[in-house]
Amino acid sequence: MEKNSGQNKTVLVTGGSRGIGAAIARRCAEGGHDIWLNYSTNHEAARSVQSDIEAMGRNCRLLPFDVSSEEAVHEALEPLLDEEVPFGFVHNAGITRDALAAMMSRKDWDAVMGVHLTGFFLLSRILVKSMLSQRRGRIIAIASVSGETGQAGQMNYAAAKAGLIGACKTLAREVAKRNILVNVVSPGLIETDMITDLPLDRLLPLIPLGRVGSPEEVAGMVNFLLSKEADYMTGQVISINGGLYI
Ligand code: NDP
Repeated sequence: MEKNSGQNKTVLVTGGSRGIGAAIARRCAEGGHDIWLNYSTNHEAARSVQSDIEAMGRNCRLLPFDVSSEEAVHEALEPLLDEEVPFGFVHNAGITRDALAAMMSRKDWDAVMGVHLTGFFLLSRILVKSMLSQRRGRIIAIASVSGETGQAGQMNYAAAKAGLIGACKTLAREVAKRNILVNVVSPGLIETDMITDLPLDRLLPLIPLGRVGSPEEVAGMVNFLLSKEADYMTGQVISINGGLYI
């Protein structure tokens, strides 16, 4: 296959099989992007996102691998990057392993840091190297209101999300001269599998807009950050939280 000439607009979305990542992948495809769809193990859900994207006339390559594994990241991406450099990278893959700090196991700390923060490090490192030569690119990390405010029971998750904000601000400074823009989207409560066990009756009164958000409301912002209209935005944290944190 011909080496990418710099004209393609492929976007790699991690955790794209379900929830916010699936909405981002669909919205980006609607916006004209081809998609590299990463996920962990849920092949059926990923195939359903793929068929929606193909129905829009875009390509969707399924890439099941564990974002926290250096070996898996390199094995999956190195051969592809030899042929094509994606325009965008959205790090959305996520898990929670909640427990009060005093009770939190090392395993749950490592697992959450691995997917959110180490995953971002591993993927952005390999992708940025390729984007630098193209002199263009967009990187977007999905953080969380927990990383902005702290959240009881989520020391691992809040630390990983706050870490993503620091990592993105740093990367934004490092690569701006090569026209690579790095931003963070920080959602509040969004209706996905991730929040099914939360006590919504107690949480909704804390949200000024009085409802949880939809995955599509996050996806719209990601699509904007990938667009030409966002050409002058980098190093920013954009919160989408219904006013939960103002
Ligand atoms: P879901 O639980 O609905 O989906 C998680 C996605 O991440 C799935 O596609 C899953 O793949 C994938 N994934 C999990 N572990 C790995 C891994 N090791 N490697 C690759 N992919 C993995 O989550 P949401 O859509 O709710 O969350 C998406 C992002 O948004 C997360 O980063 C989350 O922290 C953040 N967020 C969510 C909020 C919410 O209220 N929902 C609020 C604020 C932030 P598979 O389907 O194969 O399991």
